[in-house]
Amino acid sequence: MIKAHPTDAMLHAYVAGELNSASALVVSTHLDMCPHCRRMANAVEEELACEFESAPAAQLDGDDMHLMLDAIFSSSASKFDTEVSPYPAQAEAQAPVKPKDAMITLEGKRFQLPRSLANQKHRIGPWSKMMGNMWRAPINLGTDEVANLIYMDRATSVPEHTHRGTELQLVINGVFKDEYGSYSDGDMLVLDHTHQHTPETTDEDCLILAVMDAPLHFTSGISRLLNPFSSLFFR
Ligand SMILES: [Zn+2]
Repeated sequence: MIKAHPTDAMLHAYVAGELNSASALVVSTHLDMCPHCRRMANAVEEELACEFESAPAAQLDGDDMHLMLDAIFSSSASKFDTEVSPYPAQAEAQAPVKPKDAMITLEGKRFQLPRSLANQKHRIGPWSKMMGNMWRAPINLGTDEVANLIYMDRATSVPEHTHRGTELQLVINGVFKDEYGSYSDGDMLVLDHTHQHTPETTDEDCLILAVMDAPLHFTSGISRLLNPFSSLFFR
């Protein structure tokens, strides 16, 4: 049961085509996994369509018209049933993905990627080992945004840290927990400087899609020595 979802504002921005590609990839992948948010997104889509329909055409000046056309062409209208994505990084390879093409392997384990992420499989770079039993594979979206797949093996923890910017995390498979709760398949977290936490896995491993706009800031003990290098680990 998914219990952590994008905020209404984020869902609205997603449908309106206002999120950057990396954040859109996280929300889109969450939608693949979350029927509740798919319904919400469809409702927002209808709401936006009604707003445009009710705007008198004569009152649209050149800029408004431009905005409207942008919105129409970047809109996720019908996306949820026709596989068409609103964002450039996701606009390619939108045909349904065969299950075997959506598999990735790491450390002898196989993971099934949700459709939005599977469509970006060719953008996933090589895995590299980070601290402890964590691995990272960058996802090159062709922009400055930083998206990574992070794999935490069982009984692994990240030193306590906070976030200088905003980080989106989506659990693709497995379970991790922190001081706020326990998260599993489909849970999507929005983390910022107000969250100081120590993510860890116990008897299950965890594959996470993570997008961040600034390096982590480690807050406790010797791990603070990592701060000058945290951009190497987490970007
Ligand atoms: Zn949801």
